[in-house]
Amino acid sequence: MSKTVLILPGDGIGPEIVAEAKKVLDAINTSGSLGIEFSHGKLGGASIDEYGVPLSDETLALARASDAILLGAVGGPKWDQLDAAIRPEKGLLKIRSELELFANLRPAILYPQLAEASTLKPEVVSGLDILIVRELTGGIYFGQPRGIRTLENGERQGYNTYVYAEHEIERIGRNAFEMARKRGKKVCSVDKANVLEATVLWREVMDRLSAEYPDVELSHMYVDNAAMQLVRAPKQFDVIVTGNMFGDILSDAAAMLTGSIGMLPSASLDKNGCGMYEPCHGSAPDIAGQGIANPLATILSVAMMLRYSLDMSEAAEQIEEAVSKVLDQGLRTADIYTDGMKKVSTSEMGDAVVAAL
Ligand code: NAD
Repeated sequence: MSKTVLILPGDGIGPEIVAEAKKVLDAINTSGSLGIEFSHGKLGGASIDEYGVPLSDETLALARASDAILLGAVGGPKWDQLDAAIRPEKGLLKIRSELELFANLRPAILYPQLAEASTLKPEVVSGLDILIVRELTGGIYFGQPRGIRTLENGERQGYNTYVYAEHEIERIGRNAFEMARKRGKKVCSVDKANVLEATVLWREVMDRLSAEYPDVELSHMYVDNAAMQLVRAPKQFDVIVTGNMFGDILSDAAAMLTGSIGMLPSASLDKNGCGMYEPCHGSAPDIAGQGIANPLATILSVAMMLRYSLDMSEAAEQIEEAVSKVLDQGLRTADIYTDGMKKVSTSEMGDAVVAAL
């Protein structure tokens, strides 16, 4: 049966990088006779401009009917003044929660060719291969009650709720243990159990699950220490599992270890393996429309999509090898450029990956 992929370019550099990823996907779809079919929709600011909402019912229906979704990024200054309820990011949060995409996989791999592009010393980061498993549909980003209220004394107060139910912790924990089994067999669970009760429960559930995975070593770390360890000695980690907010922050820090956030793909999966694939970075309005954005994170997201949702691992490997080949050729977008390399545009990078396939 053929597979359907929904394409959501989004805002800012989104359309530019998704165009390159689609070029690569089209090439491999044709050469490998993969039979992937496509649908197209809008998300974020682009959807607000057309439908008045960041995620329309039509796009949500297309998403539900797809095996996988390829997303660029959403948001930008044009929509920053809108009411929080209809801002572009709400569309992203809604599609994640409607489709129950609770497991966000963010690999941070340093390509040896880019060791010099990292701000950390090459010996600290070379060979780095971490997988951050971030819970994506719960925690403080979704907890109720939330809002800004006026107190009796007239002062305004902002408030949010950090909440996790046992089943939410358990399913993301299982995901991390299963992933670790296929890698270095180590899980580090990151929490703030010295201060937050919600994460005391998190730690308890991780300990309980650990008994079912005796071949995987479980450790615990407070999030402040984890942030420090990520820049001090990142290679100590294999799989890091954590809640929504801590995962958001730590994965961006991990991104920089690899030279540029423009290199990092991500997958957000439901319990059946259907998923949304997007680069870890945002819509980069500061460079949108200039043709200089790095499309490799989005291209590598396509590889993750082929592997995790479409069951086409061979095609995934071909794309990853092609990316490695263009880096070997010395091709670099501005964000990963170092002296002596050849600076290329967004579309030149996409063309080079297609040629290397
Ligand atoms: P950002 O990730 O868009 O940009 C941070 C920095 O990284 C910028 O200097 C940008 O130019 C650079 N950068 C990002 N991607 C790049 C790429 N592919 N190639 C080269 N350089 C790249 O984060 P931000 O500036 O905090 O946010 C900008 C907008 O994106 C905001 O509206 C924010 O809400 C939104 N955002 C969206 C997502 C998402 O769609 N998943 C994630 C984060 C931020």
